[in-house]
Amino acid sequence: MLKLYNTLTREKEEFHPIKQNVVTMYSCGPTVYNYAHIGNLRTYVFMDMLRRSLRYCGYKIKGVMNITDVGHLLSDADDGEDKMEKAAKEQKKTPREIADYYTEIFFKDLTRLNIGKPEIIAKATEHIPDMISYVQDLVKKGYGYETSDGIYFDIAKFDGYGKLSRLNLDEQIAGARVEVNTEKRHPADFALWKKAEKNHIMQWESPWGMGYPGWHIECSAMSRKYLGVTFDIHTGGVDHIPVHHENEIAQSEAREGAKTVNTWMHGEFMLVDGGKMSKSLGNTYTIDNLIERGYSPLAFRYFCLNAHYRKKLNFTFEGMDAAQTAYTRLLETLYKHKTSAESTEPQKLDGYIKEFRSAVEDDLNLPLALGVLWTMTKEKPSNDIYKTALLFDEVLGLDLKAARAPEKANDEPVPDEVKALAEKRLAARKNKDWAESDRLREQIAALGYSVTDGKDGFTVKKM
Ligand SMILES: [Zn+2]
Repeated sequence: MLKLYNTLTREKEEFHPIKQNVVTMYSCGPTVYNYAHIGNLRTYVFMDMLRRSLRYCGYKIKGVMNITDVGHLLSDADDGEDKMEKAAKEQKKTPREIADYYTEIFFKDLTRLNIGKPEIIAKATEHIPDMISYVQDLVKKGYGYETSDGIYFDIAKFDGYGKLSRLNLDEQIAGARVEVNTEKRHPADFALWKKAEKNHIMQWESPWGMGYPGWHIECSAMSRKYLGVTFDIHTGGVDHIPVHHENEIAQSEAREGAKTVNTWMHGEFMLVDGGKMSKSLGNTYTIDNLIERGYSPLAFRYFCLNAHYRKKLNFTFEGMDAAQTAYTRLLETLYKHKTSAESTEPQKLDGYIKEFRSAVEDDLNLPLALGVLWTMTKEKPSNDIYKTALLFDEVLGLDLKAARAPEKANDEPVPDEVKALAEKRLAARKNKDWAESDRLREQIAALGYSVTDGKDGFTVKKM
């Protein structure tokens, strides 16, 4: 029996979809104004693990993911510039060009990480009429009111605002940068629709003049359109809980007069070197940054699988080295099984399959599931083990069919220049000078070599 942790109830619950075999699921997607960093991507690895696990448990999925290409302002509290418009101005492009460019790169990242695309991809700009009629309904029902700069949601009218984050309104407001908008009835009221100033590039006709939708309304309108009044699972990152998802619940439940999401699931943050990831610290790495440093995208996926999705995951290059080494070793270990003509007793295999499944069913305990796979690979070489590993790979998504022979030792000697740099790097690491160590790694990479750290020293390989 599959159990999933529901953020709304703070409990692991038995999962029963509304329709017997098809799970309806909505995932908050990216705002496409910039490259996705590895912290953003962890959330989509989580979404993918969930989708794969559901399929492994026998369900079909109707999944929707939005692409936010309008309406996400710099501050979640409805002020500041639109992120898309700001990026467009900075790069001297149109918001459409910006959106198309970053959307394409986002999907390329998903492919590289073996993340399957949800069945329906919904762009906000292609659903403006749906959002306008959604806002009209809220106004008709008395939940929306007009001010000089937009239509706002009246949270005092909605019982249960804050039930997902379990924060009271004062705490919610304290967390937001409050710009006093004197026309708002309550400081935490949020924009459903914004009236556009002349210089706002993206604007549409509406009953309230030219304007553009608020960020939250797109998820309510598009999930309603594709998944109906009530659907099974809504996913996102933990950062969405206090404002974005709280607002989605308010809008959707106010309009439908019903519960609209049964299970809310959230992926935890990724830290870098124990701290926050931020542009000002220069530690918002992208998948391309990892590739430049000699890591494979699937080694990053392996790295993510090592932590439960509800635990914070601390990204370090030492951790990535370990993940890359372990992932390579896994592929090499499986190669023995792939090329074996021997078989394994069915009973033994069944034992592993049961253990694997119960790990998956326990709120996606994939670190444990990965452990089951590792234990199984220690069995004597057999093709059945390889085939069972491929079955597990339907959940893990590590492309295990690529199992390969260990690389033959390269006879070509490593140039002295590279060796000297690697020695210097080891010294820098001993002094905990990570910046210098990173710099030297890049220098080594520029010469076509990769360096992997081990317990006592390092190995240098041609890339
Ligand atoms: Zn959303």
